[in-house]
Amino acid sequence: MFRPLAVGERVIVVDAKGRQHLVTLLEDGEFHTHAGFIPHRAFIGEEEGVTVRTAVGARYTAMRPTISDVVFRMPRGAQVIYPKDLGPIMIMADIHPGVRVLEAGVGSGALSMTMVRAGADVVGYEIREDFAARARSNVAALVGEATAAERYRVEVRDVYEGIDEVGLDAVLLDLPEPWHVVPHAEAALRGGGTLVAYNPSITQAAQLREAMVGSGFELAETVEFLRRTWHVEGQAVRPDHRMVAHTGFLTSARLLGPVPGGLRPARLQR
Ligand code: SAH
Repeated sequence: MFRPLAVGERVIVVDAKGRQHLVTLLEDGEFHTHAGFIPHRAFIGEEEGVTVRTAVGARYTAMRPTISDVVFRMPRGAQVIYPKDLGPIMIMADIHPGVRVLEAGVGSGALSMTMVRAGADVVGYEIREDFAARARSNVAALVGEATAAERYRVEVRDVYEGIDEVGLDAVLLDLPEPWHVVPHAEAALRGGGTLVAYNPSITQAAQLREAMVGSGFELAETVEFLRRTWHVEGQAVRPDHRMVAHTGFLTSARLLGPVPGGLRPARLQR
């Protein structure tokens, strides 16, 4: 679909070496480089991918950023979940349009924006007011103010103290002690709902798994995803020398439903 680049939009401007700059297009804006400048007007009204040259011939291409570009370039305070983990989390938690999700803590909003853009209704619990505000503005910058107002809300509160929402489809956790949330998630999820936790340390994942033993959660699984890029140039085709070797472990599980005519197994055990 042809959508011309418009004033106020954020684009990445890519040079001949693949270097990228995040730029907000302004009516009278100028993009300055060591090889001269380009007026934003040269991009505005053109098709995404438009390539423009400076007076000395250096070429620059403007494209709308992907969510991965945004996550790496947006203002962040807390550590964000990397795109390599965001993808698997979306599948593990079965995120799709209309699902209702509780997320804690929201940090800079990388996971929030990924879920909201995919059509989820997200309530975030975040203990730090400054992070809550930043997540809100990062999400709105990606999906637009109207969508953010409709499907994203962040409350400044401690998820270890409980979850008010009920009948949720998924609970997503990225915080230091997820095991405190297991009983709250049991009460907040619908039967068959999913809990997914991201943790940098395997001892955190192990303690979470321990807390699930004897709970209403089943099908527990802990995984890590490794991403290795390759150098591809003529005959030199090999893995790149460097990679991000570690980010975090993902633990998921699903909540058992009620026993017909009775209570949830988890409730019976307590
Ligand atoms: N997943 C986020 C990053 C989260 S960083 C992203 O992709 O951008 C972890 C966040 O958890 C921090 O912002 C921290 O303030 C918050 N946090 C820690 N303990 C919490 C708790 N008990 N309740 C709610 N938020 C908590």
